[in-house]
Amino acid sequence: MARIYNFSAGPSMLPETVLRTAAEEMLDYHGSGMSVMEMSHRSKWFQDIIDQAEADLREIMNIPDNYKVLFLQGGGNQQFAAIPMNLMKNGVADYIVTGQWAKKAAQEAEKYGKVNIVASSADKTFSYIPDCSDLPISEDADYVYICHNNTIYGTKFNKLPNTKGKILVADMSSDILSEPVNVEDYGLLWFGVQKNVGPAGVTVVVIREDLIRDDLPEFVPTMLKYKTQADAGSLYNTPPCYGIYVCGLVFQWVKSMGGLEAMKIHNEKKAKILYDYLDSSKMFKGTVVKKDRSLMNVPFVTGDADLDAKFVKEATAAGFTNLKGHRTVGGMRASIYNAMPIEGVQKLVEFMAEFEKNNQ
Ligand SMILES: *Cc1c(COP(=O)(O)O)cnc(C)c1O
Repeated sequence: MARIYNFSAGPSMLPETVLRTAAEEMLDYHGSGMSVMEMSHRSKWFQDIIDQAEADLREIMNIPDNYKVLFLQGGGNQQFAAIPMNLMKNGVADYIVTGQWAKKAAQEAEKYGKVNIVASSADKTFSYIPDCSDLPISEDADYVYICHNNTIYGTKFNKLPNTKGKILVADMSSDILSEPVNVEDYGLLWFGVQKNVGPAGVTVVVIREDLIRDDLPEFVPTMLKYKTQADAGSLYNTPPCYGIYVCGLVFQWVKSMGGLEAMKIHNEKKAKILYDYLDSSKMFKGTVVKKDRSLMNVPFVTGDADLDAKFVKEATAAGFTNLKGHRTVGGMRASIYNAMPIEGVQKLVEFMAEFEKNNQ
């Protein structure tokens, strides 16, 4: 068996122990005589799986009782629509645009109401997080929206915006479970699981109960109402059962690793190895303002597109895959999510140093 170091931005590496458990339980889950893929979502087996997954996530993230946890489908892009449909009462929302995902979210929200872009870092290819301490927040904004970690550009909100009392909504798809989070700072936070938690196909919404409305406009599809899913315990229709099961295994893995405080230390150690090298290298440069650097996604360039391509090619051959940067940034990007072991980053840096030496 040859596992490689996979630096994909998503879907991405999962902990090896989780994959092994899933493999062991594939044909006969806990004496049920079936795979989780084959069991009814109305069975006690599956109810226990989803209940345990929710309980573990609540424990890990310290989610208060007045927040609901919803296991949904449709990915991030569906939330771009569901959020304005469910939260716009005045029909106004403020968006902070720090990358493609926030931009797409804002564009989708425009279909349902008035969207104000109150801050943006588009002027410098999203290489920084704008100062959000005193933004022109709209009087009647139903919420303020951010993308907490910008997967493509490698920036992260290390300080939350001052929303002047408005509800904060955050896309945490690419940094959820990477460090502790104070859930009460948010009215709603959500994440697609395929970056840092599990297999593609599950989206988790954590929403404060008082924001779940039953007075939504007629046009809102039943499936997109948070109320539908909250009332049904995420089992209104057939949920992505197997994906939820694997997420549950990852939650248990995070617990076994010592929870989010320990994940943070682990992730800071890994990121430091790579950033320290980038800061000392004469060939490779990080593309992001230092104080806004992500712990999860690390874009870097040589400044020469041919050399970038040569690096990606040789790295792939050496077992470091998916390092090609997003087409809008170019260069390279190493995504070093929770499941990337520290050796993966150490070996990548050794490889980079060797490449630098050989290509001067
Ligand atoms: C990947 C990603 C998305 C898009 O998710 P889909 O499930 O592909 O729709 C949205 N936001 C962030 C931060 C992402 O990393």
